[in-house]
Amino acid sequence: MNRPWQLLLHHFSEALALAHGAVRPERPALLVFMFHALFEDAAAMSRHELDPQQRITTAIFAQFVAHFVAHGYQFVTPADVLRGLNPAGKYALLTFDDGYFNNQLALPVLRRYGVPATFFISSHHVLAGQAFWWDVVYRARQRQPLPPAAQLAEHEHLKGMQHAEIDQYLLANFGLEALRPVGDLDRPFTPAELQAFACEPEVTLGNHTAHHAILTNYAPAAVAHELAACQQHLAQLAGPTPRAVAYPNGNTSAAVVAAAGAAGLHLGVTVEPGKNYLPFARHNVDTLQLKRFLLWGDRDVERQCRLFRADFNLKEQLRSWRRG
Ligand SMILES: [Zn+2]
Repeated sequence: MNRPWQLLLHHFSEALALAHGAVRPERPALLVFMFHALFEDAAAMSRHELDPQQRITTAIFAQFVAHFVAHGYQFVTPADVLRGLNPAGKYALLTFDDGYFNNQLALPVLRRYGVPATFFISSHHVLAGQAFWWDVVYRARQRQPLPPAAQLAEHEHLKGMQHAEIDQYLLANFGLEALRPVGDLDRPFTPAELQAFACEPEVTLGNHTAHHAILTNYAPAAVAHELAACQQHLAQLAGPTPRAVAYPNGNTSAAVVAAAGAAGLHLGVTVEPGKNYLPFARHNVDTLQLKRFLLWGDRDVERQCRLFRADFNLKEQLRSWRRG
């Protein structure tokens, strides 16, 4: 979005959505939200130990949860969704991707508000204690430093690879210690920590593949293996076999979604933003391809929450009018 008219349309569209939301009651829907790392505070972020991604501190997370509690949202687990939601209800599903140990910082907030969350784990990272590649790259490129455009290009290049190629790239470019986390902030849960975490009543675990595999880069047999291995690891580590999957980087295809279903997964979340309107059948919502919103810690949180809840989307309207 770099052309002036696109920016103008974007601002106009947001203003309309907020105005519409202020006067019209919300339509029944399931809103799914995606988080990654959680920071204790801004000081932890400024240590540059990991890619700050959406810059979410526990205080921002609490503010966000409080907003949806105050607006009458019921927080649900994947099992609640799969049992069937009240077609007149407003629901929120909180999700955290990857399996960072820092996600345990969410627990006091979840307890305070009495709400559940689902944590999608890349199980090999937990078993091997391996750092996530984007953090390895971030640390090295911060030190170097590499211009932002070149960093973006490197990220896109790596996102086109399979996990073994990514590991080779990290070792070749950043040294033999590259796969090792630098501290508590960037490391995944240990198996014992994950086991204890999964026992908390607020916590549900989900599949994020064994190796954080961007599944559209893999042949069908390897896709099946990545999903099945994670199912097996999590079942062994932490109890019930997951029923939900978050596709790494949001990459799906018809074949990937079918493979998830075949692996015993019934709920899948993407990274396409949007509300999942109820009832699902009437609005063609596929529970294996739910839309998911992303919150940014460096933007106005209340405004973002109101936009997530808004039902009027000018850009969507224009698109559907164009389609006739
Ligand atoms: Zn991920």
